[in-house]
Amino acid sequence: MERSVDKSLLRYLPKVDQLLHHPEIAALMAICPRPLVVDSVRASIEVMRRLIYSGEFTGSADDIAELVVDKSISLIKKATRPNLRTVINGTGVVLHTNLGRALLSQSARVAVDQVASSYCNLEINLETGKRGSRYEPLEDLLIKLTGAEAAMVVNNNASAVLLALGALARGKEVIVSRGQLVEIGGSFRIPEVMEQSGARLVEVGTTNKTYPRDYIKAITSETALLLHVHTSNYRIVGFTRETSVEELVQIGRQSNIPVMSDLGSGFLVDLSKYGLPREPSVQETVAAGADVVTFSGDKLLGGPQAGIIVGKRHYIEEMKRNPLTRAVRINKFTVAALEATLREYLDEDNVLKNVPTLRMLTEPAQDILARAERLLNKLQEQITVNCQLEIIEGFSQVGGGSMPTAELPTYLMACVPTHLTVGELAVRLRLGEPSVLGRVQDEKYLIDLRTVQPDEIDQLAEVMARLINSAEVSR
Ligand SMILES: *Cc1c(COP(=O)(O)O)cnc(C)c1O
Repeated sequence: MERSVDKSLLRYLPKVDQLLHHPEIAALMAICPRPLVVDSVRASIEVMRRLIYSGEFTGSADDIAELVVDKSISLIKKATRPNLRTVINGTGVVLHTNLGRALLSQSARVAVDQVASSYCNLEINLETGKRGSRYEPLEDLLIKLTGAEAAMVVNNNASAVLLALGALARGKEVIVSRGQLVEIGGSFRIPEVMEQSGARLVEVGTTNKTYPRDYIKAITSETALLLHVHTSNYRIVGFTRETSVEELVQIGRQSNIPVMSDLGSGFLVDLSKYGLPREPSVQETVAAGADVVTFSGDKLLGGPQAGIIVGKRHYIEEMKRNPLTRAVRINKFTVAALEATLREYLDEDNVLKNVPTLRMLTEPAQDILARAERLLNKLQEQITVNCQLEIIEGFSQVGGGSMPTAELPTYLMACVPTHLTVGELAVRLRLGEPSVLGRVQDEKYLIDLRTVQPDEIDQLAEVMARLINSAEVSR
C-alpha cells in the first residue's frame, strides 16, 4: 500500500533559532557547549523532516514542534553524557573484566585523588633532593610481602609476561606443558605472546598429563627457560598430572635453567578458609624457588591494573634494563593506588575488610542476605505496579579468569514483572541511570547482592522502581 505523504507538514518544522530559545533547550545551553546543542537541534529537525518525507510521520501538525523539542533534549543529554559511566554490578562476578575488574580500597582512592590534584615526589628523592625512582617504594613493599629478592611493576600482567620472556629467552627455547597453553580473555594467548617476545615455544606432554620426564627430555643447549602457567581460567579435571613449580625448579637447578611462573591472578592471602579453592599464593610460588613470578594488580590482589614481577635479583635487573620496560611503564595513579593497596596487606587483620575484592569474596552469606532484604523492602515500597519479587539462593563467581570452579553461595533478588518480559527489563536497566547489570535465568531477572555495594542499595531500588513503574505507563 502506498503511504500518503503530506509535504505541507514540512511548514510546521521549527527553525533552529526558535528551538534555541525554547526554555528547556535554553536551560541546557547554559550548561552544555553551544555547538553540541546546535548540532543536536539540527539533527532533530532533520530526523523529523525525513519522517514527514517518507510518510512515516502519522501525527498532526500540532505535534511536530513538541516532538522535535523532545528529540533535541534527548540528543543533547546523550551527547553530553560521558561514555564511561557508573554501573551497578548485579552479575555476581566479583572481578568482571568488562566492568573494570577490581574496585579500589578507600586508601587507594584517596591516594589517587591526591596525586591527581597535587604535584608529588614521583621521581624525586625528597631526602637527597636527587632524582628518585617511581618504582622503589613499590618494590620494597612487594619484597616484604612476597619474600622475593627483587620486584618490578609494569602496565599489566600481559606486558609482564612479554617482558620476562623477552629478557630471559629471546632467540632461545622455552618449554611449556601443552596443558598450560592458555588463552586469557581479550586474546592473550601464551603461544602468541611467546612469539612476540622472540622466544621459541617448545610444547611438551599432553593436554591432561605432563610429567617431569617430559620437560627433561625436551631440554637442549637452546633451552633458556621452563615456564609454568597457572591455568587460572579453566581447570583440567579427572585423569591429570601437572608438573608443579617445585618439580620444575628441581629440573631447572640440575640443568642451570631458570623457572618462571605466570600466576595470572596471584594473591597474597589464603582464602581457602572462606570456602574458596586453595590456590598457590605468590609467597608459596616464590618459596618453591621460582626465579620469576608474574601476576596482575587488578585481579585477586584487588588493586589497580598493573603487572607485577617478583623474583631473583639478577633477572629482575636484566628486565629493568630492557627498553620495553619504559614502553610499559606505569603512571602515577597506578603507583599511588598500588602502594596504598599493598600497604593494606601489611595489616593482616583488616585487609579482608578494606580491600573490596577480598571483602566481596569473603563476605558471609548472612550479610548478603541482609542487603537483599533491604533492597526487597525498598522495592516493595517503591514499585507501584504488578511485579513479583523474591529473594532466592544462588552462586556468585570470582571472575577475571580466577578460580573458575569456585561457587560462592549468595542471595539474589529475583524479579518477574508482569507487564514486560525479563529481557525487556534487562535492557531498560542496562540503559538506566545509573546502569544496572544483572543476570537473566529461568525467566527471572536476577540481581546478585554480593557485588552490589552497601551504599548502592538506595540508588538501585530507585532506578529499578522507576524503570519498572514507567514501563507500565508507556504500554
Ligand atoms: C589474567 C592473566 C594474564 C593477563 O593479565 P592482565 O593483567 O590482564 O594483562 C596473563 N596470564 C594469566 C595466567 C592470567 O590469568
